[in-house]
Amino acid sequence: MSKKYDAIVIGSGSNGIAAAIRLQEKGLKTAIFEQAAVPGGATKTQELTLPGFKHDVGSAIMPLGLASPFFKDLPLEQYGLEWIFPEIAYAHPFEDGTAYGCYKDINSTAAQLGEDEKAYLDLIGPLLDNWDKLGKDLLGPLGIPDHPMAFMKFGIKALPSAKIIVDKYFKNDRSKAFFYGSAAHSTLPMNTLASASFGLVLTTSAHKFNWPFPKGGAGNFVHALTEHYKSLGGEIFCDTWVEDIRDLPNAYAYLFDLTPRQLLKIKGLNFSSLYRQRLESYKYGAGVFKMDWALSEPIPFTNEKCRKAATVHLGFTKEEIENSEKGIHEKNMTKTPYVLIAQHSPFDPSRAPEGKHTAWAYIHVPNGSTEDFTEIIENQIERAAPGFKDTILERSTMNTVALEQFDPNLVGGDINGGKQDITQLFTRPVARISPYSTPDPRVYICSSSTPPGGGVHGMCGFHAAEKTLKDHFKELL
Ligand SMILES: Cc1cc2nc3c(=O)[nH]c(=O)nc-3n(C[C@H](O)[C@H](O)[C@H](O)COP(=O)(O)OP(=O)(O)OC[C@H]3O[C@@H](n4cnc5c(N)ncnc54)[C@H](O)[C@@H]3O)c2cc1C
Repeated sequence: MSKKYDAIVIGSGSNGIAAAIRLQEKGLKTAIFEQAAVPGGATKTQELTLPGFKHDVGSAIMPLGLASPFFKDLPLEQYGLEWIFPEIAYAHPFEDGTAYGCYKDINSTAAQLGEDEKAYLDLIGPLLDNWDKLGKDLLGPLGIPDHPMAFMKFGIKALPSAKIIVDKYFKNDRSKAFFYGSAAHSTLPMNTLASASFGLVLTTSAHKFNWPFPKGGAGNFVHALTEHYKSLGGEIFCDTWVEDIRDLPNAYAYLFDLTPRQLLKIKGLNFSSLYRQRLESYKYGAGVFKMDWALSEPIPFTNEKCRKAATVHLGFTKEEIENSEKGIHEKNMTKTPYVLIAQHSPFDPSRAPEGKHTAWAYIHVPNGSTEDFTEIIENQIERAAPGFKDTILERSTMNTVALEQFDPNLVGGDINGGKQDITQLFTRPVARISPYSTPDPRVYICSSSTPPGGGVHGMCGFHAAEKTLKDHFKELL
């Protein structure tokens, strides 16, 4: 039977678009169907507060967008993508007004840590030296690594909890809090197995790539991706909610940029009851409470390093971060949570009207929480930047329900498409030889619910596309 398309992608997040580009560039005829009015999923820029203030609704800082083995070779600059590199990748302030900064130069970074200088170099140095070998193995499904020795050495440091790693390497509590700042991106408690892996990968990527972001907003990254896709002949249909695969045009393969709970609601899929059960038991992680501000001036951080970094991790002591990330999972939030801040406008004036500024932040909260954490977040920022509240012209808040309404993949406010603990890190959504395929030979999963998980890197989409090519279009490989 003739098919209208070779493959159809449902959902236009960064992974959906990556999958579609990969298939289209192999000469296939593809289309993307997206329920929202514009493509991009959780990678979008909007005026959330006042006219002229451009805020990233979801992803804001994209070291893996630049570093992704798939995205890095696409001609995105041709479509207006410009990366902005802050002087310091991220900063971590302490209560007494001092701060550590993560510089691209590992030695300058380590030198701030005093007695822990050598330990920092021992922990991160070998990973930085081996990044070019490790990158592809880390951003893919579990399999035989291309560089087994480098991968094994990484695994020894990455599998334990962040707490075990900081206690093993560092003497000073500030060095421990500094590492936790990256490890806490995992949304896992610091004593959870494999939470160290996030700290290691993100810290190393800061030294390698300096945590850049797209000029004008994250939406410009998606714009460049979609323009490239369309230039290859790809088609995108927005405002199209897919609820039954039989409503879609005929195709050999359908790649869903959806999480398991959403996929289970799609009608017409030939899934076994065992596979359905396994998808039903997929675990979602903590949610986030997200804030954006229009400001009269940049965040008035006391410490200069925080003013020179686009990302700031707030967690004034090691215990504060430990208690914050543990409390979320026990539904016992602390009043001094770990706060992740991004400030673009000091480095990219196009984000706000002349002389004005934007700021972006979130904290981790229990999945599905509807509590308002505005005061708690603003109080935390005041500790590092006294006078911050006086600079606020307008604020926008999104609890977990608002986030899920914005993008249905953010189930209960989970921004990573599912919990990223040791049981789901490499084998998401279920342990199969290929986690991208399903028992229905037409159906693939390409969202962040597959390896390597959350983040704007497109590698879930790339690997799902590769599996599709292998199964249906082997001659093109
Ligand atoms: C607040 C927040 C902050 C973040 N910060 C960062 C960051 O700084 N750096 C970073 O790298 N990552 C960050 N992330 C994570 C990153 O945005 C995600 O990991 C990434 O967007 C996942 O891409 P995806 O393609 O898997 O899914 P998504 O981007 O969620 O896209 C899924 C798409 O599928 C569509 N869809 C769903 N159901 C249907 C349906 N039935 N029919 C049609 N379409 C459908 C949705 O509308 C959506 O467009 C953040 C996320 C959030 C929410």
